[in-house]
Amino acid sequence: MNAPERIIPLQSRTDGGCATAPVLRERGQREVFCGLTGIVWLHRKIQDAFFLVVGSRTCAHLIQSAAGVMIFAEPRFATAIIDERDLAGLADAQDELDRVVTRLLERRGDIRTLFLVGSCPSEVIKLDLSRAALRLSQRFAPQVRVLNYSGSGIETTFTQGEDACLASLVPGLPASDAASLVVVGALADVVEDQFARLLTQIGIRNVGFLPARHSDAMPGVGPYTRYLLAQPFLAETARVLENRGARRIAAPFPLGVEGTTRWLQAAAAAFGIGADVVDQATASARSRAQAALARQREALQGKSIFFFPDSQLEPPLARFLSRELGMRLTEVGTPYLHREHLAEELALLPAEARLSEGQHVERQLDRCRAERPDIVVCGLGLANPLEAEGLTTKWAIELVFTPIQGYEQAADLAELFARPLRRRELLAA
Ligand code: SF4
Repeated sequence: MNAPERIIPLQSRTDGGCATAPVLRERGQREVFCGLTGIVWLHRKIQDAFFLVVGSRTCAHLIQSAAGVMIFAEPRFATAIIDERDLAGLADAQDELDRVVTRLLERRGDIRTLFLVGSCPSEVIKLDLSRAALRLSQRFAPQVRVLNYSGSGIETTFTQGEDACLASLVPGLPASDAASLVVVGALADVVEDQFARLLTQIGIRNVGFLPARHSDAMPGVGPYTRYLLAQPFLAETARVLENRGARRIAAPFPLGVEGTTRWLQAAAAAFGIGADVVDQATASARSRAQAALARQREALQGKSIFFFPDSQLEPPLARFLSRELGMRLTEVGTPYLHREHLAEELALLPAEARLSEGQHVERQLDRCRAERPDIVVCGLGLANPLEAEGLTTKWAIELVFTPIQGYEQAADLAELFARPLRRRELLAA
């Protein structure tokens, strides 16, 4: 039986906005992708890594259909299928895994990091992937490092796969005693390049990105490392970075002009650089982005929006849509609400926005139908039925696959919401 919904007060260090508003906590059936999905963007980001899912044909289909078929490049992900013999305990899965990995690494000399990615079936048969990773790492060092994490639907939702993957990288990061900034969270290369340029112009030296594009370029970490989250779903990565002495810079997330400016200002302040320097370095990018956003505001101003929980990006997206585009927030659902990492975001959300954490999909659908919002952000499974009921939807997954952070992408982000509204208006005309 599903647990009843509970309303709990949100503890936060900040005042104002939604920081002290109650949060509707729900536990029940949920409609969210599993953490394997993260491979779709992570394999593009870390260019010499390979992701070997230890799972079933279902897992293989999920990854193949989410990532699309690569025609010109050798793929950098695959699934080692656990079949009935493994499930029945008739085969030694560790031996089989060793054979698969050896064949793969002999054939692919370009791989520097191999991730063994756990799934529901590997968990069910209790296949110890950490033991396998240690054994295989010893065997293939120093050319290849073998790591493991879980993308299983039992343990993770959607973006938590990235968190688990990045957390697995942290123990192997080089030790560093230098003062440095590490931007944490996979960003599209174009966005990373823009941020690297801006941070340099602001005067912050020694900037690294986790993950880096290549295994030998991962940033060092130590007691003088300050880290800045670029994504709101990295709780475990943050925890293990702090275990290595790094300290988080509290900031909103770099979505929209305001979010990006505050994010850069927080980084600058941590290195003793004033907001005026940030203003100067970002002036032209800001004014370009504001002009582009003004055009999108015409389409979005006053429109209501409802978020089903999916990626944990929902609170920063809601803040951007409400404050920079004048949208009206009805419900802002998120699978998990990390109160500390989101404190700055929650303080900026309008007090009337209803925050919900977790999911009881039937109850949430009832609330959504009662609100009849102009646009609903949800997973693929809910989008079609809601469209059939006459609601306009936006697939949450697109917001993770698309470069949306930073000034240059602010209008593209707004366009992702304006487009379905325009399509609906055309259909209705
Ligand atoms: S990990 Fe679990 S939820 Fe994800 S595709 Fe495989 S079986 Fe399905």
